[in-house]
Amino acid sequence: MRALCWFGKHDLRFQDVPDPSILNPHDAIIRVSLTAIGGSDLALYQGKNPTMEAGDILGHEFMGEVVEVGPEVAHLEVGDRVVVPAPIACGRCHHCQHDAFALCDNSNPNAWMAERVFGHSPAGIFGYSHLFGGYAGGQAEYVRVPFADVGPIKVPEHLSDEKVLFLSDLFPTGYQAVDVANMAPGSTVAIWGCGPVGLFAIKSAFMLGAERVFAIDNVPDRLAMARHQAGAEVLNFADDPIVDALKEMTGGRGPQVCIDAAGMEGHHKGSTNIFERARLTLGMESRTHDALLEAILACAKGGTLVLPGIAGEDAENLPLSAAFSKGLTLKMGPTHVQRYLKPLLARIEKEEIDPGFVITHRLPLVEGPEAYQMLHDKEEGCIKVVMRP
Ligand SMILES: [Zn+2]
Repeated sequence: MRALCWFGKHDLRFQDVPDPSILNPHDAIIRVSLTAIGGSDLALYQGKNPTMEAGDILGHEFMGEVVEVGPEVAHLEVGDRVVVPAPIACGRCHHCQHDAFALCDNSNPNAWMAERVFGHSPAGIFGYSHLFGGYAGGQAEYVRVPFADVGPIKVPEHLSDEKVLFLSDLFPTGYQAVDVANMAPGSTVAIWGCGPVGLFAIKSAFMLGAERVFAIDNVPDRLAMARHQAGAEVLNFADDPIVDALKEMTGGRGPQVCIDAAGMEGHHKGSTNIFERARLTLGMESRTHDALLEAILACAKGGTLVLPGIAGEDAENLPLSAAFSKGLTLKMGPTHVQRYLKPLLARIEKEEIDPGFVITHRLPLVEGPEAYQMLHDKEEGCIKVVMRP
């Protein structure tokens, strides 16, 4: 088969590789019909993960048709059309039994590596470096899916690939970011970052009863989508002092829920805040993570701060004293995608949302290397790229 393989920083190649096969009786093989590039794939492209190896197949957002099942697979049959969650989960360990699938104890064969970095290993993830298991990803014609009875969800024929693909990661990630905040109906929510996760968080906030949602970014196309497609009140951090603006828009109280969906892009180039200015005045290096810092400072007293993604190495020197003094609740962590598959598929079927709204580019998988470069450069209003093998 052919697959999109990583060979180094900014070096991807679409090439022939061996077909995947059933290695465990609980495996299934999926013929991929649609796959997407995520923001975290971009970090791999940019060479930010030292546990990638030449030839690794990328991709953790994908769906397709079951073409082979292992002898122990009970709930899937050849011919089923499924969406596959990005995190791999066994379904039987303590965490899986408590719906915390992204913390699965059994799905990362390289757990020792992750234990060194994090203390404990989270779940394995498709196509996401050897730190997360070294699994081949879904930016390929075929992919092996372990624990096939636990992850994949069958999707009805009348829903197009583009409507259901983002059940694999993005939609549940945006939804979980709001869900874990346990907000009261009528709350105000602020979301930093209007990439796909931020956009799904905006939509989810309204679904879960938010009265007003503020969205913060500096990319005009993203702000336009947040306003027109998702109904948020938008703020451009290049123009507005965000903390002051949010306080003003909420009667001085600040938003009750603040979500940093800017991920590794959370550092506003050229911006300054009081902590940053203080560091610079003292001749120290700039190391704060603006989005997160603003979220802490803007959040209402007693409010909830949520981190649905990794803020990266620059999320140091956070004013935890501010978070403490205001009695904030901090929620963070990877997405338990499997937990949300059924309820979110139901919302798609009821037409409460068409997740395909984030797609801006459709390309054949053979053009994968160009697609990554385009997303890297954020060219031509590029928000979300999907690819067909
Ligand atoms: Zn498990």
